[in-house]
Parts: sequence; C-alpha cells; structure tokens
Amino acid sequence: MTVYVVGHKSPDTDSVTAAIAYAGLKKTLGMDAVAACQGELNPETQMVLDKFGFSAPEIVTDAAGKQIILVDHGDLAQAPDNLADGELLEVVDHHKIGDVSTNGPIFFYTKPVGCTGTILKELYDVNKVDIPANIAGILLCAILSDTVMFKSPTCTDEDKKACDELAKTAGVTDMEALAMEMFKAKSAVDGVPAKDLLFRDYKDFDMGGKKIGIGQLELVDLSLIEDIRDDLYKAVEEVKADGRHSVFLMLTDIMKEGTDLMVVSDDPSVVEKAFGKKLEGKTVWVDGMMSRKKQAVPPLQEAFSA
Ligand code: MG
Ligand code: MG
Ligand code: MG
Repeated sequence: MTVYVVGHKSPDTDSVTAAIAYAGLKKTLGMDAVAACQGELNPETQMVLDKFGFSAPEIVTDAAGKQIILVDHGDLAQAPDNLADGELLEVVDHHKIGDVSTNGPIFFYTKPVGCTGTILKELYDVNKVDIPANIAGILLCAILSDTVMFKSPTCTDEDKKACDELAKTAGVTDMEALAMEMFKAKSAVDGVPAKDLLFRDYKDFDMGGKKIGIGQLELVDLSLIEDIRDDLYKAVEEVKADGRHSVFLMLTDIMKEGTDLMVVSDDPSVVEKAFGKKLEGKTVWVDGMMSRKKQAVPPLQEAFSA
C-alpha cells in the first residue's frame, strides 16, 4: 500500500521538501512512499523545486483510507482532512507537540530545531543513506527559508551545521546568494489577490477554545505591500468573519528583522496582553519578531487561555 508523506496545509518550502526528502529516504529503505502536498506551491517553493529539478508532489487533502506520514506539523488543523479515517504511521516535526493521536505506537520524532530539513539530514545520516545532491539542495533551501538565513530565533547550531554539510553535498558555494534568490521569489506580491497572499503561509490554531488564524508574509521590504494594505486588511476581515475569533497577519520585514502585525479580533486587547504594545490603528510593529512558531503563537496562546 502506498504511503503518503505530507506536510501542512498552505504548503511552505520546508513542508514540501521534507515530504520529497523523507519519501525518498523511505523508498530507499524499502517502503512504497510518495511525497504529497496539500495545495499549490508558493513562489519560493516553486523556485526551489525548479532549481534542483523536482516537479511538484501530488496533491492530497483527504487522508481517509490512506497510510500517512506527517512532516513539518503534528496538528489536526494542519493535517489532511479525515486523518482518523486513515492510518498515521509516523510524525517528523519541529513544532510544539500538537493534537494528533493514534491507537498504537508509532515513530514520532520531533526536535526543537529551526527546520524539519535539519531533522531529515540526521535521519539520512543515522540510516547510513547518502543524500542525493538534489535532495541536499532542497533541504538546504528549506533550512535557509525556515530560519530566515539563520536570523530567526528558532535557528540552532545544528541547523547551521546541517547547512554547511548539505551545501557541500549540493555543490552550493554561496548560501547567501541562494537565500536572497529565495527571499526575492518569496516577496513576489505583484498582481496576487490579497486573500491568496494571506493564505500563502497561513495556519489556524485552537487557542483557549477559540479559532485563531495567523498568516505570515515574509518580505525583503515592507514597501512592497504599501499599496495593498487596505486590500490585505479586507482579506483579514473576511477570513475572520468566517467563524474565527481573531485573524493575525504578520507582515515580516526580513531585512529590518521585525513584524508589522495586522489584527482583526473580537478582543483587540489580546494584542497588548501578548506583546505588551497596543494596536496603532490596524497594525502594531513588533521589533525582532520573525517567527510565528516561537514569537507569535506562544504569547497569543497564553493571552487567549488566560
Ligand atoms: Mg512549515
Ligand atoms: Mg518547518
Ligand atoms: Mg515559515
């Protein structure tokens, strides 16, 4: 039976490349594994796959009747639908422990590193499987993306070490140039509908029983979205109106290393509780905020649960 290795909804570079790399490893080890993803690729991920010669994985959004391995997430809200009607075989992740559960024991491997790609590098190594050059290339890109070229507070020494080794294997001599190429692709907003931008890197969470959405746009310069701020706000309002207590859109300036946080909420005071700063109109600038996982989710989780 085919085993689908799949990353989270609103696929990002880590969740797609982790699916490709882990399916490749599992195949080498004798499993009938294929990579899957839950939607269209974002421009950065498309660029990365093109560069290293991969086509997009097949799209799988329903787990019913399927054997599934989750990578880069462990939350039901981010997993394929009807996971309980399929069979969860493994989880490989670097986020907080989510709410998936199983009837029997499984391989469940998570580490607090900056990227699933770093864990996959380790899994290739411990299984004594040589990483093919093109797989090394996409894993390198995933780590550069997830850690925002080592600037995110989620980045660890293990991530940096993995990048050095992967770059050698992939024949990449200038990591910074590769990262800038990705960030430019990631910053492409021209002509993209505001709602698509909001959903480009978007996750729903359960916080204190409330449905909370958090999207993130990582940009080399916030001037890129100056003209479409009102459209973005309208999109945030619409998604919030669709059964959510609050929706946040992190407008992250990769170069200035901070986030302009756009908020539509039933209780805007939660922003001050979480970040110690009041909304100034529609947004609030949070200096140093780069990571949703480490700097947005935990304080919001606490504020909503209080
Ligand atoms: Mg991810
Ligand atoms: Mg990741
Ligand atoms: Mg990310």
